[in-house]
Amino acid sequence: MEIKDPDYEGIINKLLELKPSGGCDFCGSSNLSIHGKLYQLTAFSQGKLLIGAATIPLVVVQCDKCGKIDLFNAIHLGIVKAEGENNG
Ligand SMILES: [Zn+2]
Repeated sequence: MEIKDPDYEGIINKLLELKPSGGCDFCGSSNLSIHGKLYQLTAFSQGKLLIGAATIPLVVVQCDKCGKIDLFNAIHLGIVKAEGENNG
């Protein structure tokens, strides 16, 4: 799923507000970028693919200096509505 009308700067700023020290917690760089698509984390199922399994939509934030990746819940950030809400 692609991020609809992504506000990359807004998302980064929101994340930096939550982490006042800012930047990458590995190398300290403040040059972060967001992947343009959402990814998902699925429940563990002993190596089997479960259709309709519970998933968590993720925003992927990468440090442009060292490549460290952090994952954030897209529902919590308000990019995706929780199941049962209108995603329209
Ligand atoms: Zn880094």
